[in-house]
Amino acid sequence: MRYEEGKKRHEELSRLLRSYSRQYYIFDDPRVSDEEYDQRYRELQEIEKEFPQLGSAASPTQKVGAESEKAFRKIRHETQMLSLENAYEERDIEEFLRRVRKQAEREKIDFVLEPKLDGLSASILYRDGVLVDAATRGDGFVGEDITQNLMTIEGIPKTIENFSGEVRGEVVMQKSDFQKLNQQRQEDGEKLFANPRNAAAGSIRQLDPQITASRKLTFFAYALIPNQRMRLTTQMDVLEILKNFGFTVSDQIILCSSQSEAFEFYKKMEKQRAELEYDIDGIVYKVNDLSIQKKLGASTKFPRHSIAYKFPAEKVQTVVMNIITQVGRTGNLTPVAELKPVTVGGVVVSRATLHNKDEMEKRDIRVGDRVVVQRAGDVIPQVLYPILEERQADSVPFTFPMVCPCCGSALLREKNEAAIRCINMNCEAQLVERLIHFASRQAFNIDGLGEQNIRFLYEKGIIKSSVDIFYIKNHRNYLENADGWGKLSVENLLRSIETAKTVALDKFIYALSIPQVGRAVSKLIANFFGTYGNFLHCIKNAECEKLCQIQGIGMATAGDFSSFFVNENNLKIVQDLGGDGVSDGIVTVMATKSSEENIFSGQFVVFTGSFEKLSREEAKELTEKFGGKVASSVSSRTFLVVAGKNAGQKLDQAKKLGIKIISEENFFEIIEKKIPEINL
Ligand code: NAD
Repeated sequence: MRYEEGKKRHEELSRLLRSYSRQYYIFDDPRVSDEEYDQRYRELQEIEKEFPQLGSAASPTQKVGAESEKAFRKIRHETQMLSLENAYEERDIEEFLRRVRKQAEREKIDFVLEPKLDGLSASILYRDGVLVDAATRGDGFVGEDITQNLMTIEGIPKTIENFSGEVRGEVVMQKSDFQKLNQQRQEDGEKLFANPRNAAAGSIRQLDPQITASRKLTFFAYALIPNQRMRLTTQMDVLEILKNFGFTVSDQIILCSSQSEAFEFYKKMEKQRAELEYDIDGIVYKVNDLSIQKKLGASTKFPRHSIAYKFPAEKVQTVVMNIITQVGRTGNLTPVAELKPVTVGGVVVSRATLHNKDEMEKRDIRVGDRVVVQRAGDVIPQVLYPILEERQADSVPFTFPMVCPCCGSALLREKNEAAIRCINMNCEAQLVERLIHFASRQAFNIDGLGEQNIRFLYEKGIIKSSVDIFYIKNHRNYLENADGWGKLSVENLLRSIETAKTVALDKFIYALSIPQVGRAVSKLIANFFGTYGNFLHCIKNAECEKLCQIQGIGMATAGDFSSFFVNENNLKIVQDLGGDGVSDGIVTVMATKSSEENIFSGQFVVFTGSFEKLSREEAKELTEKFGGKVASSVSSRTFLVVAGKNAGQKLDQAKKLGIKIISEENFFEIIEKKIPEINL
């Protein structure tokens, strides 16, 4: 390759890898499979080997992860958090073992073999025995503050007697919990997580700890950096101490001294991985002796004492039965392959997204093709490529629609964007998807108004817009006698519609299906405006550029927000629902709690013993008023225990778990703001 050519390809690959990393680390929404990412990464490494002058400090080969997201408070790591060098073949491991022996000047070296857990790395800092901070890896130097979120994970000690230092490990989600979560998200019309890794990362990187608390996560500890003298000589000691501290440590770890044993373990785990409760994407080989680890040191990106031997992605073959183009609630067209059902990595796959027009054309996947499908540690499920030798003679390329397949309107493609959108906001497919989203759990949360019922009510002309949902009661008689409904289900539905008439401002905004305005952005917007009145004023007076003042919201989102309300129908829906500023609307939109009122920020508070002033009713009322929830028992998820006289078992349990304990008097002091912080 000529230098000019190499330079051009280097730029191209660097740009691509940076944008993939942003999607993967910041938005937890990968655009390509890990294998594809790794292939491009290795190509970049090869170019830098040939032309070392191209390998500057800014190259993706020299950087760990990605910079932290603006919306989070930043935490600077006391010791840099590194990544791991990857190996893909036995000879990469042989080379690694040779190098380690040479640099350590030892013939025989023991290695610890640990599963490479596929999650998000986190660091937890303890000072004088108390958990003070927790952070994501970020770019290795600065991570995002996830302290409150991490505290919601069961099994993480909040105190460790006499310990100061850092514990590092991986936050993961069990495969079964991941499936439940995605099932729920599908019902709610929310975007699905690609795999358990992205679900875990998306769950821990939440601005609202309540969302994290509602997801089941596990933290596996694997490293310890004490700020004090400790008797630690090997990685096996570290794992033992972590267990004694109360952390979860993988039970699939072995100590090994021969190369053949190391390969055997890799093969055994590769076979077993589908049956494990957690996704693992390889085996980490670590030098056991900590003094040798220290001697070997680290490069800018990797420690030299460890390497990750990655598993190949799981692939299977199946047939494309059909290709359809779906229109989403914001108008995006997504080609979807309907597949002959097949099991990949323990999950039955019958549909796979083909992403967008460009991807479709690049891969040239056709109806009738035998294709290779991949999942496990990757975007799931994904059609990789067709098997051309088996293509039927009469097969024809798929033609991407020229107009919206639902309403026939023109399609729009924004500059530099892969997505193609139907421009007609009144397109039926979009309308129905928006209605499904409006009633979903995270929006208006209307029980009994899932996808099937919405489609039925839409087809019967009962609901054409979200406002009509609140007039379903006018069709009571018809529905009670309609197929599949009946008196009881209609009554339940009408009751949940009544309940949904009081809604928080962020959920109200989220329910509208504004492009690029998901749950996190809706929360930011709601916090910014505080009340429905302020929100309405802004959209009525076309002042949407104000959104750019919010940290975490950029021009593109503000632009989409603004265009959404240029459409008078959308403004009218908001006014009909919430009121136009003069008369009341159908629903009551609750103001966002100010940070002062949100002292307990969704956390669990336990009251135990007898109190002088406080009745149990008042305790509950006050806790909820200030944003908390009352729980009846103490667990690691408890935030605070308020202990009165003669408090017994719950108090003991709180002490054991190191949970903050305060008196009745303190409780009043906190809510009356006499004590500014909850960290008494
Ligand atoms: P990595 O995930 O390959 O390995 C390093 C990480 O492994 C550590 O930071 C740690 O969190 C984790 N780990 C798990 N178990 C461990 C154990 N027992 N001991 C020590 N560490 C353990 O590296 P990375 O830098 O986090 O990510 C790079 C990889 O991420 C790429 O190789 C690629 O596969 C993937 N990626 C994919 C995309 C995409 O778009 N699909 C984009 C960026 C990165």
